[in-house]
Amino acid sequence: MVGIVVVTHSAVLGQGVKELAEQMTQGRVPLAVAGGIDDPDHPIGTDPVRVMAAIEEVQQGDGVLVLMDLGSALMSAETALDLLPPEVAAQVRLCPAPLVEGVMAAAVQASIGADLDTVLREAQSALAVKAELLGMPLSREGIPLTRDSGGTGGDVPGAPREAGEADDAAPPAATAAPEASHELTLMVPNRLGLHARPAARIVTALGPFMADVQLVRGERMVSARSVNRIATLAVRGGETITFRATGADAAQALRALADLAAENFGDAPDAAGSSAVTGMPGTAARGKAGATAAPAAKGGVPASPGVAVGPVAWHHPAFDAPPPDLAAGTPAEETARLEAALDAARRELAALERRTAAVAGRQEAEIFVMHRLLLDDATIAGDARQRIAERREPAEAAWYVVIDEAAESFRQLPEGYMRERAADLVDVGARVLRLLTGAPPTGPRLDRPSVLLATDLGPSDMAHLDPALVLGIVTMQGGATSHAAILARSMGIPAVVGAGALAANVADGITVGLDGATGEIWISPAPGVLASIESRRAAWLAARQAALAGASRPAVTTDGRQVHVHANIGAPADAPVALQSGAEGVGLFRTEFLFLDRATAPDEEEQRAAYAAAAAAMPGLPVVVRTLDIGGDKPVPYLGDFAAGEDNPFLGVRGIRFCLARRELFLTQLRALLRAAAEHPLRVMFPMVAHPGELAAAKALLDEARHALNAEGLPHGPVEVGIMVEVPAAVALADQLAREAAFFSIGTNDLAQYVMAADRGNAAVADLSDALHPAVLRMVRDTVAAGNAAGIPVAMCGELAGSAEAIPLLVGLGLDELSMNGPAIPRAKDVVRGCDMAACARLAERALDLPDAAAVRRLLKEGG
Ligand code: PEP
Ligand code: MG
Repeated sequence: MVGIVVVTHSAVLGQGVKELAEQMTQGRVPLAVAGGIDDPDHPIGTDPVRVMAAIEEVQQGDGVLVLMDLGSALMSAETALDLLPPEVAAQVRLCPAPLVEGVMAAAVQASIGADLDTVLREAQSALAVKAELLGMPLSREGIPLTRDSGGTGGDVPGAPREAGEADDAAPPAATAAPEASHELTLMVPNRLGLHARPAARIVTALGPFMADVQLVRGERMVSARSVNRIATLAVRGGETITFRATGADAAQALRALADLAAENFGDAPDAAGSSAVTGMPGTAARGKAGATAAPAAKGGVPASPGVAVGPVAWHHPAFDAPPPDLAAGTPAEETARLEAALDAARRELAALERRTAAVAGRQEAEIFVMHRLLLDDATIAGDARQRIAERREPAEAAWYVVIDEAAESFRQLPEGYMRERAADLVDVGARVLRLLTGAPPTGPRLDRPSVLLATDLGPSDMAHLDPALVLGIVTMQGGATSHAAILARSMGIPAVVGAGALAANVADGITVGLDGATGEIWISPAPGVLASIESRRAAWLAARQAALAGASRPAVTTDGRQVHVHANIGAPADAPVALQSGAEGVGLFRTEFLFLDRATAPDEEEQRAAYAAAAAAMPGLPVVVRTLDIGGDKPVPYLGDFAAGEDNPFLGVRGIRFCLARRELFLTQLRALLRAAAEHPLRVMFPMVAHPGELAAAKALLDEARHALNAEGLPHGPVEVGIMVEVPAAVALADQLAREAAFFSIGTNDLAQYVMAADRGNAAVADLSDALHPAVLRMVRDTVAAGNAAGIPVAMCGELAGSAEAIPLLVGLGLDELSMNGPAIPRAKDVVRGCDMAACARLAERALDLPDAAAVRRLLKEGG
């Protein structure tokens, strides 16, 4: 494949061009950036050695096209050619095309395997295309001509031809194919028409075929193998176009195009007849006017069991005017606050983009790219800065007015698509405003029992939910172990997550049913279907009621072994619900929830109060407080976490690694814990421990905190110290770790993803990151064995522990304690009470011998 090198004075500029090209081609084309120079004080410039290295990086034998921005970039590229061995230099072409358009055109052409000269030709035609679109075709000398100056596209090299003329970008096969022409006429189904991405998909779809394919709109005809040419036609949704193909495989090429068109040219499906759907997920306007009446049950990811049905209420983040009497600092201070909030918002969006791309795919993540672009819009930030400087307004007020006015002007535009950008602007505006004020999200506001629909729900949104009004939850994003899912389970609210575009097209007030155990979703169910959903819900409510009745009794197997059943909580407020559900303690208090969705970390006293409150709600019962588990999928922008700069945050500085790197933050938490332990039986648990050195370092800091409290005369209490076993290394070293830990708690959510090398939030590999996989179960077996040998208890607090179907297997594996979301406890205890140790041990043995998670599930379904 032809490689591409981008030579720019600014590394950031080069990176941006690269990102765009990668988006167009799904990263298939080898593309390297030689941007900036190696001088931290003056990084702008070009460096021939970097250009040479970039060429060497991307050359795969099919040649390399080099595109440059301006001035010295050309000289650097030429010098690089002199530095390269002649046989490599002979395979390199320097391209005079405009940088951005040229790289995009070249990348798409290269991605379909075109040769170097074709890629060069396509890139070179890019400027002519832009000029044509502006009504200023280029002269032969490359000078823009106005319409009046007599230039025509047909006369201009590289410009689009009129109907009937051969297109100069067409591949050689076009002229060498005498066969009869085939035609495919269709109506463009996607509302936004053949914009850049569908155009790129058309070119890609034609890649495997030799046929010459032209695209005809009205009187104009262009090569369908050129993104640029397709773009000049400005084809809109609903218009009729014709693909005209000649060549041996013309019919097959047209069939491929017909298939692509049937899939909306790869765009997200639009709501039938609706003009409110944007084709971009996550837009706040979507819920207001789009309507879907399809009665069929569709699917998302099952997230929290239970059945719900009711009218939909969309949740959008609030964007309210700040109080008029808000005090302002100096303009310099207010500007600095605005810049800090903008930076934090950029980092949040980058993290959301990365997570969403992993969970739901690149296209779903584009919304956050677009939000970032809105944030970086120079006029918006510039206007806000100007208001601060000239009117001495506080940053909140300036930002609010600028966003509000810009959103209003979007709303006035005649184009429906542009009008809908107002909602995105408000979304971005709300994010920055929240970061400026430090206010946590207010959470969804409902005025009647509803099924809550949202792009995603953060922990604070969840914390603000009124379970009496939230019948069920459907989110467009997220996996079964996303925080919305975990919290929905702990609150006993049925939930389906990761419903994607399916949820996007549902309007406020439409009736939606969901089954959180199966992931089914019904939109506007027909009366018969509605009745059956309602009877499913009645059965679920009755079973829940019956389970609660026996919840407080211990869970003892038929042959007398007690399995302790504890609760996972995210806030002190979860503890009473858990106790009521029969929890015998807290097995996992995820303290990071105290740190999320706010502008600064909770101080020692706030933390002490939270830990004490959780323990007080569980009188006399053990409470395991897990220290901060930040990083990975839980970035906290104000802590300057490492995630934003990491390519693989799950393999980066998260959990205990983060705490050991943020010594002061960690010491504050440890002091708060020790102080809360003065009055309550607290245990401390460190997350993500991989080897004994980390445990020793964390314990040393705990000692340091204890000594400091002693010196200050502050009351504190003893704490047992245990670890999460969720990294394969910890299982391998479990015997060593067991000598230093008072207990183990197995985190199957992470253990499964690390053992199976499968992202826990990525639905595409969900069958691999399944904690029931025998590879993971063997890790559980080994951890239990090490714990037993050392005489320490082994618990499980990953989501698997709360799965009723898995419990006989977990009992058979010898776990001493299962910790789960509160609402799962009654049923879990019931299941334990029905267990016989010998039978469970046999079941575990059989499961460990199976090849995959699906086989284990079948075994469990059959009851062993
Ligand atoms: C786990 O990984 O199983 C676990 C309980 O921790 P978390 O889900 O918070 O990462
Ligand atoms: Mg974990």
